[in-house]
Amino acid sequence: MIRQTRQRAAIEEVLREAGRPLSPNEIHELAVKILPGLGLRTVYRQIKDLSEAHLLLGVDYPGQPVRYELAQGGHLGHFICRECDRVYYLPVEVPEVHIEAPEGFKITGQETIFYGICPNCAQRADEA
Ligand SMILES: [Zn+2]
Repeated sequence: MIRQTRQRAAIEEVLREAGRPLSPNEIHELAVKILPGLGLRTVYRQIKDLSEAHLLLGVDYPGQPVRYELAQGGHLGHFICRECDRVYYLPVEVPEVHIEAPEGFKITGQETIFYGICPNCAQRADEA
């Protein structure tokens, strides 16, 4: 159980510090630096457990691998870079839109996606 807590803590730390939602592979790459020997299968299992506990949210956009973020991230917009396909948090407060749900629909969430070029890719383009 202690082992599992350390695995979970490593995954949470990686997601907190990344500043953007991460795919299971990205989580694994970063988490092994904190906890050497951590396996990819364990990462997947932890992601599943954390998701079921609603501590982790899947960020799933068309044409993108599913990425994960911590649930307590606040209401921020997501930004997808057209160059590198990375998903970032856009550190702006996105106003919640209140609409009258059509008959039979119960709205439980809202997602705002922005697209463009991330600072890394913009810099690479300048250098080229
Ligand atoms: Zn980029």
